[in-house]
Amino acid sequence: MAEGRLGIDVDGVLANTVPSVLERLEDEYGHHGDTKEDVTEWGHTVEVDGKSIPLGSEIVEGHMVEEHLRSINPKQGAKESVETLRGEGYEVVIVTNRPSDRDTVRWTKSWLEENGLGYDRFHSTAETTKTAVDVDVLIDDHDRNVVEFLEDGRPAVLFDQPWNTVPDVDGAGDRMEVVTGWEEAVETVQRLV
Ligand SMILES: [Mg+2]
Repeated sequence: MAEGRLGIDVDGVLANTVPSVLERLEDEYGHHGDTKEDVTEWGHTVEVDGKSIPLGSEIVEGHMVEEHLRSINPKQGAKESVETLRGEGYEVVIVTNRPSDRDTVRWTKSWLEENGLGYDRFHSTAETTKTAVDVDVLIDDHDRNVVEFLEDGRPAVLFDQPWNTVPDVDGAGDRMEVVTGWEEAVETVQRLV
C-alpha cells in the first residue's frame, strides 16, 4: 500500500472550470468565441455583447451561486485517477482557494461527491496558503501555489494550463513535475510520493 497525503486543487485540476465558465458566459451573454487556449493569463477578459467580463472574478462570483458552481464539469480522467490513488492507499486532501463561506464549501463538497470524486479531508485555503496544509505533495494549476510549495521544501505537480508558466525555483530540481492530464499525474505522484 502506498502512503502519503496528496493535496489536490479543485479548479483547473479536478474541475474543468475555465471551459465550463466560458460556456456559461456564452449562454448568458451570447457568442464571445473565447476558448481555454485564449486564456493565457489570470487577468483574462472576455469581450461579449459590448461588455468586458473579467474571467477571474466571474469564476469566483460564480462559486457563490449554486447553479453556476454546479454547471462546472469535472476534468477528464479525474474520477478514475482519484479512485486509483485512493485505492493504492494515498490520502486525498482537497485544498481549494474557492470562497470559504459555508454555502460554497457545502456545494463544492456535494459537487465532488456527485461527480464520484472521493476525498479524505477538505481544506479551504482561501484565507491561508496551501502550504498551511499538512500534505506531502501539492497538485495544482497555479504557478504561485506551486512555487510556495517548492520553496517550502515539498514536491509539487503543476497541471499545465495556457494561463500558467512553469516556475523556476532554485534547488527545486526533481521535486517539480509538469503534467498535461490525470493519467500523467497519477504516474508522477506514484514516483514522487
Ligand atoms: Mg486551480
